[in-house]
Amino acid sequence: MKNISHYKDNIKRTILIVDDEYINRALLDNIVNQEYNTLFAEDGEEALKLMNDTNYHISLVLLDLMMPKINGFEVLDIVRQDERLKKVPIIVLTSELSAEVTSLQKGAVDFISKPFEAPDVILARIKKAIDLEEYVEVIKNTERDHLTGLFTKHYFFEYINEYEEYKTSINMDAVVLNIKRFHLINEIRGHLYGDLVLSFIGKKLKELFDYYEGIVCRTDGDTFYLFFEHQDDIENTLDKYLIKPVVDKFHDLYLSFRIGIYQNVPVDANIEDVFECALHACNLLRKNYKDSFSYYDVEMHNKEIFNERLINHVDKALEDKEFKVFFQPKYEIHGEKPVLCSAEALVRWVHPEYGMISPGVFIPLFEENGLIQKIDYYVWNEVGRKIREWMDRFNKVIPVSINVSRIDIYDPLLESKLMGIIERNKIDISSLMLEITESAYTSDSKTIIETITNLRYKGFLVEMDDFGTGYSSLNMVSNLPIDILKIDMSFIKNMCNNEKDLKMVEILLNISEFLKVKVIAEGVETKEQYDLLKEMGCDIIQGYYLSRPLPSDQFEAII
Ligand code: C2E
Ligand code: CA
Ligand code: CA
Repeated sequence: MKNISHYKDNIKRTILIVDDEYINRALLDNIVNQEYNTLFAEDGEEALKLMNDTNYHISLVLLDLMMPKINGFEVLDIVRQDERLKKVPIIVLTSELSAEVTSLQKGAVDFISKPFEAPDVILARIKKAIDLEEYVEVIKNTERDHLTGLFTKHYFFEYINEYEEYKTSINMDAVVLNIKRFHLINEIRGHLYGDLVLSFIGKKLKELFDYYEGIVCRTDGDTFYLFFEHQDDIENTLDKYLIKPVVDKFHDLYLSFRIGIYQNVPVDANIEDVFECALHACNLLRKNYKDSFSYYDVEMHNKEIFNERLINHVDKALEDKEFKVFFQPKYEIHGEKPVLCSAEALVRWVHPEYGMISPGVFIPLFEENGLIQKIDYYVWNEVGRKIREWMDRFNKVIPVSINVSRIDIYDPLLESKLMGIIERNKIDISSLMLEITESAYTSDSKTIIETITNLRYKGFLVEMDDFGTGYSSLNMVSNLPIDILKIDMSFIKNMCNNEKDLKMVEILLNISEFLKVKVIAEGVETKEQYDLLKEMGCDIIQGYYLSRPLPSDQFEAII
């Protein structure tokens, strides 16, 4: 027996000694009371009363057979009918061989012959009976999930590890299965109804494994792990044996599943890691309302590892100054020639291993986990320093806009961080401009608008980035705190050959005129676009046509 050592602690267990003869009670007490607490009963009736008394936790009963009122056989019969009592092991005390057989048939776990055998034999029998019972209890409670009767996660993994040793010749798939919007079923229909759904799924999964080699568990809530022989057509198998029966049975719930699959698990893989991967594939379906299946593959694996490396390396990268701030000039275009008026700060990561990484790769990743705040703060500080340096070197203020993520806006320290940069570098508030995307405004307008209004009140100029992509209505835009609109580059890209996009640029320009704010066109790549925008009355241009984002020394050359 393994794994029960933790159970044999120092608790003194209680034994109930049932015998109508005083001398027997005393003899047994004398043998066991060093190691156990003892309780006594003189007949079956008294014994049952004590066993039913929940104040006592009786670990074992020593039961005489011949007794007045209720005899030992009758006690065994009654105990066997009772769910709670039948868990208490009973050893009968007898002198007749025939009685021994009958009592074992009636559920006794062992017998001790009268006259009593050597004390150490009796103690050994008692100990063995208690150990066995407790071991069975431990197994029952940890092995099976009460609701579905499936394995628990702990035993699931333990069994797979054992199972694999014998089954290395079969290809296995790891599957993680989860119900979409399950919490809503609990909330709307109540937990009991939710439980009903889960136990039905448990039943169907058990049936599935009547057909296929493998095992299954419920990990927590509405998540199930399946480990079973590889199916070329796993989607059909799951559909037929699980999804369809469940969906049909609860047809008014419109259930749907999220299923992550790791196919052909390598024999030497760590099984818990494999399920983490399947779970990852499953979670990718969270924002996907259409599909039910997602596969973990090498590409996903490599991407994950890449992302993980980036995340873990951020602090060191900041320390080693691997993040470089580039500056892309913005030009005023009203006059004969474009005139440099400001710049946008764009971060790049010069990674020692991966080379130059574009912000399009790491910014979305760091927005997910909040690391963006660290990077942005670093970039903003660099920008503050540069604005000061250029004031000193060129006797000129070049305003620079920084990108402010939605997550930055929720930072309660945002204002003090920005003001710190302004004060430390002794620069004008209006020279550090803030770019905030239109979608940030529309995602949670109230908090964001409050914060931005406040920053503008302090003196910061705010540009609405990617304008035209965030679905804000004209009515809404006219109430937003902004100083400059920045037309999204997607419209500029096709404005010369797509009537619709041209129309859109026109509308966006009209809006800015109506709001009396300046307008920037970004992503201008050709002379054609430039000329057209100039003609249409656009104020400022940013794009490869005039200049790419430049490292600071190159930018300084054009100031
Ligand atoms: P964005 O704010 O819309 O920045 C403009 C992007 O367009 C930049 O890409 C810029 O290099 C690129 N671009 C400029 N002119 C042209 C052009 O003529 N044609 C084309 N095709 N592209 C042009 P980049 O530098 O790769 O940055 C991508 C995005 O990453 C940015 O989009 C911004 O959302 C984000 N980002 C960049 N730096 C930072 C930063 O320091 N903090 C934060 N929070 N986000 C940043
Ligand atoms: Ca921007
Ligand atoms: Ca933009």
